[in-house]
Amino acid sequence: MNDAERKMQFLYALRSKGVTDKRVLTAMEKIDRGPFVRGVFAERAYEDMPLPIACGQTISQPSVVGVMTQALNVSPRDKVLEVGTGSGYQAAILSQLARRVYTVDRHRRLVREAQQIFNELDLTNITAFSADGSFGLPDQAPFDRILVTAAAEDAPGPLLSQLREGGIMVLPVGQSDTVQSLIKVTRTENGFEYDELRDVRFVPLLEGLSDE
Ligand code: SAH
Repeated sequence: MNDAERKMQFLYALRSKGVTDKRVLTAMEKIDRGPFVRGVFAERAYEDMPLPIACGQTISQPSVVGVMTQALNVSPRDKVLEVGTGSGYQAAILSQLARRVYTVDRHRRLVREAQQIFNELDLTNITAFSADGSFGLPDQAPFDRILVTAAAEDAPGPLLSQLREGGIMVLPVGQSDTVQSLIKVTRTENGFEYDELRDVRFVPLLEGLSDE
């Protein structure tokens, strides 16, 4: 298969799994997943599957990235927080849709490596930090959109409070060793509305910074 065929197949897999939003598809066409996957798995970067990355973590399946990004309904003026930088791929997709993206991970190494790729790709509207994202980023709050890419048992309180009125948060919730639900939380003037989107499987949201 040549590059063009691989790209066609990649986009076809996204569409067939329900990613239909034009802006999301365009962003995912533009941001090559290749640089975010290293070593022996690099050749599988264009397959619709999660893959291992450093620190025992995973880069999500492209169609799940697409579905989550689509559910987040990002507009060009939005300030977005992503919890769980991992490879940086999801943040790179968000950078195409938002005004500014803050992304945090508890592994310093992942943040460092993702930042390198952001620099190489000249994605200047992403700021990456190492931090425990369950506390959000109080200094930058409130956020228009929040995306969590690790599973918590429930939506963390600090993240709910850092969501702007009218804002949307998308996150997987549930026990880490079973199937989790992807949920969409919308902050209204009266509180929070919850929608369940689909079943997913993510690594757990863990407490504190890692040594790595
Ligand atoms: N969005 C990533 C995939 C994330 S995998 C991508 O596009 O590649 C989940 C990530 O969440 C892991 O890198 C893990 O280190 C991180 N994580 C888990 N608990 C966290 C926490 N409390 N704060 C910040 N990051 C966390």
